[in-house]
Amino acid sequence: MNKKTIKDIDVVGKKVLVRCDFNVPQDENGTITDNRRIVAALPTIKYLLEHNAKIILCSHLGRPKGEFNLKYSLRPVAEELTKLLEKKVQLANDVIGESAQNLTSNMKDGDVILLENVRFEPGEEKNDEQLSKQLASLAEIYVNDAFGTAHRAHSSTTGIANYLPAVSGFLIEKELNFLGSALENPERPFVAILGGAKVSDKIGVIEALLNKVNTLIIGGGMAFTFLKAQGHKIGKSICELNKLDLAKELLEKADEKGVKLLLPIDTHVATDYSNEAEDKYVHSQEIPDGWEGLDIGPETVKLFETALQGAKTVVWNGPLGVCEFPKFKNGTYEVAKMLAKLDATTIIGGGDSAAAIEKMGLSDKMTHISTGGGASLEFLEGKKLPGIEALQDK
Ligand code: AMP
Repeated sequence: MNKKTIKDIDVVGKKVLVRCDFNVPQDENGTITDNRRIVAALPTIKYLLEHNAKIILCSHLGRPKGEFNLKYSLRPVAEELTKLLEKKVQLANDVIGESAQNLTSNMKDGDVILLENVRFEPGEEKNDEQLSKQLASLAEIYVNDAFGTAHRAHSSTTGIANYLPAVSGFLIEKELNFLGSALENPERPFVAILGGAKVSDKIGVIEALLNKVNTLIIGGGMAFTFLKAQGHKIGKSICELNKLDLAKELLEKADEKGVKLLLPIDTHVATDYSNEAEDKYVHSQEIPDGWEGLDIGPETVKLFETALQGAKTVVWNGPLGVCEFPKFKNGTYEVAKMLAKLDATTIIGGGDSAAAIEKMGLSDKMTHISTGGGASLEFLEGKKLPGIEALQDK
């Protein structure tokens, strides 16, 4: 997939509308608790500034359901951007209304304006044609740099591209480079690690990766559906009974394709889904009644570490246990440490595994941490992301 970027188009003096992902976490007072998504957008914004463009930024924040709601205002983002860019970033009071129109019609080269939360507009999530046209009318060029919402066909991610020359920013370019080359041309051995709560969320990814990887490691809550499908006792561990046949099929498919599929061999179990519950380690194939598996055990950590030795490409999505509970974070943390030491291309598919790696201060040790959990999963599944499809080909 080769999409045009802002480097392939003349932006000098032009009004450029950039769709960013400023969907940042905030505390109850609205203070931004993690500015990484804003920082991630800076290379594109700075490039446009260096090329004297007039920059109109837009993003969603939370789920305001199509109406103005101060709680979801992008004002804290405008303030943070002003600090980071050392340049006033003015916030419009609306998305396509009077304020946005006035501000964007009086711009000088190098000005930066942030539109209010696009999801204040009821048409945004419906990919409404009228809204797409109105957004497009504010600018001369459209840049999508919001990888986190590229799997959603909304007005500001997809519809707008029907009415303006549309290219990607540097963040989307980077995501496509890393995720794309992992899938198209991975250096081998290629190992994927999948965890998280549910098999049903990851069926597509498992199926797609079975055609690509040498080894597939499955941990987290989803492993129990596979263990049960093999006929093992899983106690009261999380399990999707309606996915047992599918799990069997996937195990057979792995076998046919010569993919080594690894499941946990020992499990850290508890009497309840709680950090305070009584806990112990048991064989993963014989989890006693009344106990549930909340993390992989030390033998499994060793097994997974051995499987990762010598890997040249690793893709990881989803924690290997309930890593929000300190007592059950060990499996996820040990595997993260192992990845940090590997001489391999390591790609983390956003979400909880990325958060765990950040918490451990290991982010710099990974080759690429995707900014889009859902979007990276869909990409790895081989699905076409509407926000990327809408951009011009090179
Ligand atoms: P996902 O969004 O599918 O990647 O799932 C992430 C969630 O899976 C995290 O909140 C983990 O707490 C949860 N999870 C991981 N392992 C388990 C487990 N053994 N039992 C229940 N939940 C789990």
